[in-house]
Amino acid sequence: MNYVSTRDKTIHLTASQAIAQGLARDGGLLTPEVFPKLTGELLEDLRGKTYGQRAVAVMKLFLEDFTEEELTAFTQAGYSAEKFDDDRVAPLHSLDDNTHCLELWHGPTSAFKDMALQILPHLLTASLGKNREEKTVCILVATSGDTGKAALEGFKDVDRTKILVFYPKNGVSEVQALQMKTQQGDNVGVCAVHGNFDDAQTGVKILFSDEKLRADLAQRGYFLSSANSINWGRILPQLVYYISAYCDLLNLGKIQMGEKVNYCVPTGNFGNILACWYAGQMGLPVGKLICASNSNNVLTEFLATGTYDKNRQFYTTMSPSMDILVSSNLERLLFALSGQNDREVAGYMKQLGETGRYTVSEEIQAKLKESFYGGFCDETETSQVIAKVWKEHGYLIDPHTAVAYDVMEKYRKETGDESKTVFVSTASPFKFCDSVLHSLGVEEVKPGLDALDQLAQVSGRPAPVPLASLRDKAVRFQESVDKEKMMDVVLELLQ
Ligand SMILES: *Cc1c(COP(=O)(O)O)cnc(C)c1O
Repeated sequence: MNYVSTRDKTIHLTASQAIAQGLARDGGLLTPEVFPKLTGELLEDLRGKTYGQRAVAVMKLFLEDFTEEELTAFTQAGYSAEKFDDDRVAPLHSLDDNTHCLELWHGPTSAFKDMALQILPHLLTASLGKNREEKTVCILVATSGDTGKAALEGFKDVDRTKILVFYPKNGVSEVQALQMKTQQGDNVGVCAVHGNFDDAQTGVKILFSDEKLRADLAQRGYFLSSANSINWGRILPQLVYYISAYCDLLNLGKIQMGEKVNYCVPTGNFGNILACWYAGQMGLPVGKLICASNSNNVLTEFLATGTYDKNRQFYTTMSPSMDILVSSNLERLLFALSGQNDREVAGYMKQLGETGRYTVSEEIQAKLKESFYGGFCDETETSQVIAKVWKEHGYLIDPHTAVAYDVMEKYRKETGDESKTVFVSTASPFKFCDSVLHSLGVEEVKPGLDALDQLAQVSGRPAPVPLASLRDKAVRFQESVDKEKMMDVVLELLQ
């Protein structure tokens, strides 16, 4: 199977080349040229397997230059009982016969990024080996919170990798900062940057484009890479849980084989929902894909009008991982829906770069409408939904998940569609104690880690161990630097 660039189909790579490279040289995203079939027989077979085994069976179809033994080792390491607090890894929680929540936050950082970032480091190092890359990879990350910690946990003590995370000193929550400052592992570095997320991100971009730094690091035996969701190695592990959820629904007797299921996904960079669409392309019986946004509703508008326009106000919300104006992975969907018309996609992306907007063809618009429904949920509604789901179902959800729940309800009301629906839960409510407690009507929220106990008390549920145990962990990384000094931090880590 070939991997091609969304902007140039004549670029052909193997799976391991695509993962090692991350982004295509022309700036496009590397994408499988064809999607393997998920036959009824295979689906039937997956029903009897564990999550890890399902992951191997699905990923194997896309990774022709990897052995089954390798993939088994990766999933055993990434989805171990040590790292996930539920042996089902991605369990379903049913609210009623038609409504099921897919919990993707049982991993080490209590957010769904773990599902892919527990596997990516293994895929990446194996890919580098297969392509005779002798140098050690150093992953540089600028984070607004969740990704940095998930990447640190994923790459921690993985052979022949280093990871360095920069976060904005005043741009992450106290719990998030503590999660990173106490990070363990011999190959990790964490540093605060004076300024906001943009400062940290700009700083990292400058490091990536610095030719002299690159040459200097090459001499020391290192090269720089990133772990963001444009890498195919981050999308692929995400296909698995949609297929796995379908198997679980079958096993629970909630659906018949072949019955279509709607999936509702809280969306930011469009990686997660794209994975579900790909699973549908493979043959998973996917009904409607419900794309849920917060007040940054650029995707809602795009799905309704066919025009993507990032020239708009940016809102800081209580679902920060969805505060995004440019959803990078949409490019992969446009490539598929245009009939793999690389020129057309390159044209849209050029317009986006130059004017911040583009309008897709009528053909693409029609196909979008067939598969997707877009909706959004504002801040007041998010709070109301957290309270409502708690009151009606005794089930506690975080703000990102609340956005999904709200848009799912709007879709049902608007269309009368009564299909079974899986809505995706991307973070533990304990990761966003403040917003959740306020939504439940608690007026005085305690500072820092005390809010964890407070939420545990109010909800009668324990906080996830990795969060609760932060109190006992030693702080290892205290450094904070000006943006201009970020290079020194890199050189110090990579001596
Ligand atoms: C990253 C993230 C999202 C958005 O996922 P995309 O793949 O970027 O669309 C939603 N919720 C949480 C909690 C996240 O961390």
